[in-house]
Amino acid sequence: LEQKESCSGCGVKLQATDSKQLGYIPPQSLEKGNSICQRCYRIKHYNEASEAVLDENDFLRILNRIGGTESLVVNIVDLFDFEGSFVQGLHRFVGGNPVILALNKFDLLPKVTNPNKLVNWVQQQAKANGVKVAEVIILSAKKNIGFDRLVSAIEHYRDGHDVYVVGATNVGKSSVINRIIRDYSEMEEELTISQFPGTTLDIIKIPLDDGNYLIDTPGVVYHYRLTEMVRKKELQALLPQKPIKPAVYQLNEEQTLFFGSYARFDFVRGPRQSFTCYVANSIPIHRTKLQRADELYDMHKGEMLAPPDKEGVEALPPLSRQSIKIPKGKFSDISISGLGWIKVNSTEGAEIDVYVPKGVKVSIRDSII
Ligand code: GDP
Repeated sequence: LEQKESCSGCGVKLQATDSKQLGYIPPQSLEKGNSICQRCYRIKHYNEASEAVLDENDFLRILNRIGGTESLVVNIVDLFDFEGSFVQGLHRFVGGNPVILALNKFDLLPKVTNPNKLVNWVQQQAKANGVKVAEVIILSAKKNIGFDRLVSAIEHYRDGHDVYVVGATNVGKSSVINRIIRDYSEMEEELTISQFPGTTLDIIKIPLDDGNYLIDTPGVVYHYRLTEMVRKKELQALLPQKPIKPAVYQLNEEQTLFFGSYARFDFVRGPRQSFTCYVANSIPIHRTKLQRADELYDMHKGEMLAPPDKEGVEALPPLSRQSIKIPKGKFSDISISGLGWIKVNSTEGAEIDVYVPKGVKVSIRDSII
């Protein structure tokens, strides 16, 4: 037991209780006699060494100083994972400074999406989080949508001051900033774009024409996003690059959907109704009877139920269940941070059990589409 007390990689004390703290080792890995913390394991096996990611506290410490400046804050949010990528505690550190919420990856949403409804919805969410938003702007770095508006809003609200760009990892912050540099400034060099969490390491200052700066801060890691838990090679499948093709399932109660081996959705009780799944097209959905679901998962995880592969399933925390009561009288989404969301297409209410790798954030919200 002795040699298991500290990590053989970094020497930090091992613990199996809090995946957010240093030295975390998944209990099943500890039982197998391993003595390497999850972070070192990932560095070793997935080459994440150079990516000194910022955890939430370090990030907030850096951002705290924004409150003491006169500046504009631009929070880039991933429309595909609003709950997971909205910067928590934003209101605490911005002080009296104006905030622009830039909603990136609009191109992923189906064409029928009503942008006004989306903007209203986001304004409500921001308000509920205590953030007064100067403007909400819909963007796509990929399809070059919304940049004229973003740049003129920035010019308007920065009022001759610096601009801080903040966001969670993988929201497309580098892509957005690169586009601003490319199309709206004289600077030749582009920032590195990477798929992997935490690659925008240092604060990068981009000179503006009046002697102020656009300041790119490191991406913050939110451990409750599935995209932070998976291996590098799986990230590709989870982050959709093409517009999502929503998949509609008519379900009776006691039917189950599997999303690869990442998540399981049980329609436990309620009238027959349809559910629309908004997940990356590369995540196959498998329907079965609730009664058979446990067995199916045990037999086929990492194989028929993939991605991830078997090794990937092992590397994730075990699935854990959350029971959700869908309220009557309105349309709701169940969002699974980093995977996508499921819209409940009736207003008659339902009882749902969602299984996700332990720690992944599951939220219920008014439907956005
Ligand atoms: P950062 O970690 O926030 O700096 O994000 P990156 O700019 O490295 O982008 C993360 C991932 O999101 C990459 O796979 C990008 O291709 C993708 N991405 C960025 N912007 C968009 C967008 O507007 N639409 C879509 N579909 N993907 C995007």
